[in-house]
Amino acid sequence: MKGVKKMDKQSIKEGVKRYLKVKHGVTLEEAKDYEIFNAISLTIMEEIVDNWNETSKRYNQGRMAYYLSAEYLMGRALGNNLINLGLYDEVKEVFNELNLDLNKIEEVEEDAGLGNGGLGRLAACFIESAATMEMPLVGYGIRYSNGLFKQNIENGFQTECEDNWLKYGDCWSIRKDDEVQIITFSDMKVKAVPYDVPIIGYDTKNINTLRLWQCEALREFDFNLFNNQQYIEAVSARNKAEDISRVLYPNDTAEAGKILRLRQQYFFSSASMKDIIKKYKATYGNDFSDFAKYNVAQLNDTHPTISILEFMRILVDEEKVEFNTALDIAKKFFNYTNHTILAEALEKWDIRLIERLFPRILQIAYQINDALINELRQKGYDEGAIWNFRIVTNDQIRMANLAIYVGSAVNGVAALHTEILKNKELNNWYNLYPEKFQNKTNGITPRRWLRLCNPELSEFITELLGTEEWVKDLSILKGLDKFKDNDEVLNNLMKIKREKKAQLSAYIRQEEGVEVDPDSFFDIQIKRLHEYKRQLLNALYILDLYYRIKENPNIEIPKTTFIFGAKAFPGYRRAKGIVKLINEIAKLIDGDPISVGRIKVVFVHNYRVSYAQKLFPGSDLSKQISTAGKEASGTGNMKFMLNATPTFGTYDGANIEIVNASGEENNYIFGLRVEDIEKLKNNYNPKEYYRNNPCIKRVIDTLINGMLNDGGTGYFEDIYNALLEEGDQYFLLADFDLFKKAQDKVFEDYKDKKKWAQKCLANLSNSGEFSSDRTIKQYCDEIWHIEPAKVQ
Ligand SMILES: *Cc1c(COP(=O)(O)O)cnc(C)c1O
Repeated sequence: MKGVKKMDKQSIKEGVKRYLKVKHGVTLEEAKDYEIFNAISLTIMEEIVDNWNETSKRYNQGRMAYYLSAEYLMGRALGNNLINLGLYDEVKEVFNELNLDLNKIEEVEEDAGLGNGGLGRLAACFIESAATMEMPLVGYGIRYSNGLFKQNIENGFQTECEDNWLKYGDCWSIRKDDEVQIITFSDMKVKAVPYDVPIIGYDTKNINTLRLWQCEALREFDFNLFNNQQYIEAVSARNKAEDISRVLYPNDTAEAGKILRLRQQYFFSSASMKDIIKKYKATYGNDFSDFAKYNVAQLNDTHPTISILEFMRILVDEEKVEFNTALDIAKKFFNYTNHTILAEALEKWDIRLIERLFPRILQIAYQINDALINELRQKGYDEGAIWNFRIVTNDQIRMANLAIYVGSAVNGVAALHTEILKNKELNNWYNLYPEKFQNKTNGITPRRWLRLCNPELSEFITELLGTEEWVKDLSILKGLDKFKDNDEVLNNLMKIKREKKAQLSAYIRQEEGVEVDPDSFFDIQIKRLHEYKRQLLNALYILDLYYRIKENPNIEIPKTTFIFGAKAFPGYRRAKGIVKLINEIAKLIDGDPISVGRIKVVFVHNYRVSYAQKLFPGSDLSKQISTAGKEASGTGNMKFMLNATPTFGTYDGANIEIVNASGEENNYIFGLRVEDIEKLKNNYNPKEYYRNNPCIKRVIDTLINGMLNDGGTGYFEDIYNALLEEGDQYFLLADFDLFKKAQDKVFEDYKDKKKWAQKCLANLSNSGEFSSDRTIKQYCDEIWHIEPAKVQ
């Protein structure tokens, strides 16, 4: 670590003692772990605040980018911030001198789980990369007082409870009461209070900002109602306001939930637009002609797309900009990232709800829709073709259409995904505006996903390369290629893997009460539970393997631990059924002397960023088995690769680019490709597979023959029906045999320890292009047109 002046050990020690005293009123000897955590965090905050303010000032002098995202899956802050500041070792030493264990203190931090999955984690990686690269980017989002939910597994079933991540306070943000915005709905006014989170780059003085809005009532309670002893009524406005930033993706199966989601989106969009416009006016006055010269925004999926309408409303109604001029500014200001082609994820809002909550926003949507239709008519489109482009239909606003029409750039998140958007899903738009379409393959930050979570491997890499520069320039890892025939290097690489597996085993024992053997093969599938991700295919494969072992106890396979981690969305019944099924299969295998000690299944609960940081480094195989064409990119696949783990996957999303980079011979690609599925889909009959393949029949029959118990929920029959009666939408049965063959090859190859180690090394050394630094550089150069602004 060079260039940045660091705190010395004495001031770290003094800072901890000072904050223990003023914040918690305790001495070091009396302090609880969480109090120590707060004290060290505040010590670091104190250290960085000047640089942080400096950075904001510096950025405000030029062009800036704004990342608008409903999700930021940040995980823990302390360890990452210490690494990025180059203070980790100093703090560890200070703690040792004070008889404290830094690791233990890191473990008390709650994850900031303000996201759901990959999209939210991507936003977190992006803002960290931007800070490291000294790019003027600000993130805007919502400060959910509870994240998604905490998952427990009870009797094999997923249960959910609130995720009270703020219970020990929140040292890593600063509330800015003087920058509050008032947000107006037709039936209520609320306060949007910004909480600024410092985003600390690696080896730089620059500190970027993530601004999260918290919703509060204008008044704490109604004094007169309270005085009348109407206590519930007195605080009802407050509760209603606070509900808006309470949870991510509230259940929207009923209208009340839909309204709440729409309020959330408008709340954070409106607050962010007002904030950006206020800042612009402070420097450039009321003339908006230079607005798009100094500002650019990225919509992370459609959740913040209502920002476009709010931006137009402010310019037209409050700033008196002429409509068409405002639209031209908006067209330069906004850009849109598409994250999925799943139809149910393309947001459409009922115009009745929009009209009820903010009627003016609906009028503006109509006006933009008219502008689009005029343009299409002029270009000679007929009314039938125009219908597919419409932003407003008879009953809905289509948010993706709005984002594409107004957005200056539209990007997909991996090469295949962008091609599918261009040639299929959004082909009409692509023909209209080919110049808008771009690809930006996702990435992950090497700081959190290697340097922090795998210090053992990091140190080894630094030793081999003779430099730590790879942390900032991941392409340097390519230099590891030259060790591919070096037995000592390969052995050491596998020793580190063994050590990380042992650490993971200890953590699983502590968290799940389950023993897993670190000398077994760790086959890991961790990601949100979704049918397209096909955890069910993996489960059916394992069930078949169990039967194969029973049939032939001499079958030659390495001792294997199959690890799953996944949250199922609370309203997604089938996904919850799959969680239960995986746990039932685990129980079946554990209860049978023939399979015990040969294969094991463990479902780790409450999969999240901090758990992920233990799972990726302790893996032997990365399972990425989505139905081809369905996983836009994936980023979990990249985290495995960066921790030297081969991919077992379909030809989908970024798997394709991963395998192109590290070599098909170093990974396991199987199954139908997009073209195959296109050909098959109109005459696919899963029942034929059931009839003709006895292994498939055997596992599917197990779902309903009473061997597995779903506790009377009907879950397993539902899964059975999904596969046989509803046409197996995700082509599990068509890929089953190909999966099996590919996994047999894995087991065969794993016998040759040296060859296996070479595959691991090839994945590590070719992972450079999957750094989010590379992705962010492309956004900066090709969409945002912003440049580094270094703080001196
Ligand atoms: C990386 C990550 C994801 C995304 O995983 P995919 O396999 O790409 O879906 C989801 N959740 C967490 C906690 C992650 O760290």
